[in-house]
Amino acid sequence: MRYLILSDIHANREALSAVLQRVRRKRWDKTVFLGDLVGYGAHPNQTVEMVRALKPLVAIRGNHDKVCSGIEDGEMFNRVALQAALWTRQRLTMQNLRWLYRLPEGPVIVDGAFAIAHGTPIDEDAYIFGEIEALNVFRQTTFPLCFFGHSHFPVVFGLSPDAIHTVLTEGSAFRFRLEPGMRYLVNPGSIGQPRDGNPLASFGMLDTDTRTVTIYRVPYRIERAQQRILAEGLPRPLADRLALGR
Ligand code: ZN
Repeated sequence: MRYLILSDIHANREALSAVLQRVRRKRWDKTVFLGDLVGYGAHPNQTVEMVRALKPLVAIRGNHDKVCSGIEDGEMFNRVALQAALWTRQRLTMQNLRWLYRLPEGPVIVDGAFAIAHGTPIDEDAYIFGEIEALNVFRQTTFPLCFFGHSHFPVVFGLSPDAIHTVLTEGSAFRFRLEPGMRYLVNPGSIGQPRDGNPLASFGMLDTDTRTVTIYRVPYRIERAQQRILAEGLPRPLADRLALGR
C-alpha cells in the first residue's frame, strides 16, 4: 500500500495545489492527514474541500481545527493565531465547519499498519521537538511507526534497542528505509507553513511494500499566498513568515 501523508496545511491553497500537482502522476491508495487543515492562511473553504475530495481519506484534527470550528475558544493561542482562527471561523461554510468539528482526535491506527497523531499520540496538543520528547513518546507507546505533525518541522526519530537517532531530511525527495526491529516517529513537515528555514511545502509518502518513507519538498507561489493573506486583512506576520520558512 502507498499512503500520501499530509500535515499542517493551514488554509494555504497555493501550497496544497503545488503538492497535489507534484503527486499527480504518482499512484497512491489512501490519503492520510495529520491535522491543522485551516488557520493562518486565506483559503479555508477551498483547502477543506480539496482534502475532502482525496478519497479514501483518514484525517484527524489539529489544535487550529479545534479553535476554528469552535470546539475550543483559543485562550492558549497567541494574538495573531487567535485573530486568524476567529476570521476562519466566520469564513467557513456550515458544511466545512461541521466536517472540521467532527474530525477525530488522534491517535488513530491506519489499516493496522501505523499510527497518526497531531502533536503526540499521548497529547494531541503537545510538541515533539527533539529526542527528549521523542523518547518520552516511545516509552509511553508501542507503535512501531507513528506519523505526527504540529511542529511544522520535518524530522525522523528512530529508536533501536540501544539508541535514539535523529535524521533531518534534505533535498527535494529524501527517501529512507524503515529497518526491522526499529521504531519510528516521523514528521512529514508542513505544507502550508514550514518552519525549518526552508519555505518549500513539505509532505510525505509511505510505501508499506518496500518499507520506505519519502519526504518531498515542493516550491509554490508563495507571493500569491502572501497577497491573499494581506488582502483578507489577516496579520502581516502570517504573510512574512511564509517566505522565510519560519
Ligand atoms: Zn499547525
